[in-house]
Amino acid sequence: MSETSPLDNMLAQMSAARPYADIGDGVFERLKHPERTLKVTLPIHREDGSVEVYEGYRCQFDSARGPYKGGVRYHQSVTREEVEALAGWMTWKTALMDLPYGGAKGGVVVDPRDLSDRETEHLTRRYTEGIRRMIGPAMDVPAPDINTGPQEMAWMMDTYSVYEGYVVPDVVTGKPLSIGGTEGRVEATGRGVAITADHAFEYFQRDLTEATIAIQGFGNVGSVTARLLDQRGADIVAVSDVTGGTHNGDGLDIEALEAHLERTGGVAGFEGGQAIENDDLLRLDVDVLCPAALENVITADVAEELRADLVLEAANGPTTVAADEILRERDVPVVPDILTNAGGVIVSYLEWVQNSQQYSWDLEGVNADLERRISRAFEDTIEAFAEREAPDLRTAAYAVALERVGDAHEVRGIFP
Ligand code: NAD
Repeated sequence: MSETSPLDNMLAQMSAARPYADIGDGVFERLKHPERTLKVTLPIHREDGSVEVYEGYRCQFDSARGPYKGGVRYHQSVTREEVEALAGWMTWKTALMDLPYGGAKGGVVVDPRDLSDRETEHLTRRYTEGIRRMIGPAMDVPAPDINTGPQEMAWMMDTYSVYEGYVVPDVVTGKPLSIGGTEGRVEATGRGVAITADHAFEYFQRDLTEATIAIQGFGNVGSVTARLLDQRGADIVAVSDVTGGTHNGDGLDIEALEAHLERTGGVAGFEGGQAIENDDLLRLDVDVLCPAALENVITADVAEELRADLVLEAANGPTTVAADEILRERDVPVVPDILTNAGGVIVSYLEWVQNSQQYSWDLEGVNADLERRISRAFEDTIEAFAEREAPDLRTAAYAVALERVGDAHEVRGIFP
């Protein structure tokens, strides 16, 4: 079976939800098109004095409900279409969480492992300069994604502030604490995944403390998810990252794995498990498969042979449309990305609110707010699933989100 691109997947997911959402034809048509995508050319000096030219993008998908919001990804496979798909997913995610935001995403086509720290700083500052006319606290607020984190956000905030002539902390979220970051942001996405797992296990009447879990991706999201689910008593039996994978049927020692990662820079070679390839990890006989890396990893072929009882989408867009169909036929529930991984954007929102109020909350307050919002979105999704007789949880979540964005468009109307 041929697989579709992330953008095709996102558009197909919207169309699948259309019959379950009360949304007008005109508005739905409008929502199939991103508002704008900027492409920027980014020359930097390499350490050896040569000049290298990179490409970057920022897509602003929709802003009916508030400023655009979405991360910035550094990866060699970034394309304009991928960024547009990710910006669309951000739009549905912020709406499902009922945050006063639209959706955006940015990306630079680069493998950051090829760059020194200084080169990464220059590329980040040049990218920020390239998109600076379209970002701002009331306009578009970037955040971390794959291969970006607090340091890149600090450089973005600094570059933007230099141009403005005063400090603008709320132009990005996911900043270090020392410059207006919030308690709990680094862990927020993984914490949201773990809270979603709590609710899903309760809903399906399963015991999370007895569960076996395989996680693909051991970066920000995957590692925090692993740690928090391990703390709940579940056995994380396999994880992988770009360097390789590790498997231990009795459960991996997550603390030891994190220490190994700190020492060696990757999962590969961990003594507490046997090496495992991604293809095998995705087909392990586990209670939960949690993709936490890239898009399109659960393809139709994988879906046919997948042996997990539940898929928990920590990554954005990990399941193709064809795979979704197969999983639905096989009665394997998929808890969708726009619900599962929304903890990051929720706490980004809390960071932005704190910045604009010049007031900071403690970790307890942040985590309680995160839990409340993601739990409410889980309930909204389950309610839509039951009451609208949606075929699966993704369609139910999309129906809720589409309706919220659609309502905002209806009431605002079309200019002029
Ligand atoms: P990250 O850069 O911290 O980690 C990415 C991980 O994926 C790394 O461990 C990397 O080695 C691994 N990886 C890359 N290619 C792989 C492959 N072929 N096989 C196995 N592992 C591979 O990024 P992140 O922030 O953890 O993002 C992971 C996913 O979560 C992405 O889909 C991202 O869009 C999504 N997400 C992130 C956030 C956030 O707050 N950071 C929020 C919502 C969603």
